[in-house]
Amino acid sequence: MPEAALPAPPLGLLEALRSARRPLVLTGAGMSAESGIATFRGGEDSLWSRFDPTQLATADAFDADPALVWAWYRWRMAKLRMSQPHAGHAALAALARLRPGLVLATQNVDDLHERAGGRGVLHLHGEIAATRCRRCDRPQAIEIDPAWAERPQLRAAPPACAVCGGPLRPGVVWFGESPPARALRAAIGAAQVADLVLVVGTSGLVYPAAGLPAAAPASVPRYEINPEPSALSAAMDGLWRAQAGVALPRLVELLAQ
Ligand code: NAD
Ligand code: ZN
Repeated sequence: MPEAALPAPPLGLLEALRSARRPLVLTGAGMSAESGIATFRGGEDSLWSRFDPTQLATADAFDADPALVWAWYRWRMAKLRMSQPHAGHAALAALARLRPGLVLATQNVDDLHERAGGRGVLHLHGEIAATRCRRCDRPQAIEIDPAWAERPQLRAAPPACAVCGGPLRPGVVWFGESPPARALRAAIGAAQVADLVLVVGTSGLVYPAAGLPAAAPASVPRYEINPEPSALSAAMDGLWRAQAGVALPRLVELLAQ
């Protein structure tokens, strides 16, 4: 989106941010879209385009066909490893330095926030590269091969656990699994004491993450950055119909003025 097409921030957002001491920021797949990582609900052109990602991202799918699901995840791991954070990730990291009380909770399983300088990011849906054994649950790191993204294959057997021989699984929270308790507790706690909620690039369909804005006190202003309406839009005080990579740097720039 060219600079000229960027609408002004919604009324009150800048003022709320100026006085905020404990803002809560919730990001979703749309935050990574401009880094070239497809959202689940945005559709994409890949080997797996005939599969529904929400059907692949389950324990049942992995157990039924580990090679299909692992091949998809290792392709995603390699694509994420090769992608770069964008100006919006850097802007959020800068915002966190300006507002040390800021809490950043993400549904993203990539590490783009961290690679842009984000610290203490709460990963509500895990981290894809934190692979572990499906059978004994021991964490086991793997080498990520760029060829998995450059020459993807539709099937690949998952590596075997060095301890029990079980198949390794990605470190993501699959549909039907519970989010990591510590990250979720911290995010709910941050919502309860937040003085501003900013939601960026999420469809607001996946709970409990989508429930975080509602966990903030009723008087707290809530804003959304998303080019499209989401399931959370109706509960917001202001909507910024813009892309994260353009709107967030602009926000930080305006804040500095
Ligand atoms: P989603 O795919 O359901 O929704 C993405 C949202 O981002 C949409 O509302 C879309 O309008 C918006 N969007 C698209 N481009 C944008 C941009 N440039 N700037 C701002 N917003 C933009 O994603 P979700 O709500 O995060 O839920 C999907 C689930 O899939 C989550 O559990 C997440 O863990 C997982 N997921 C993660 C990644 C990742 O880690 N990068 C990628 C895809 C899916
Ligand atoms: Zn094991």
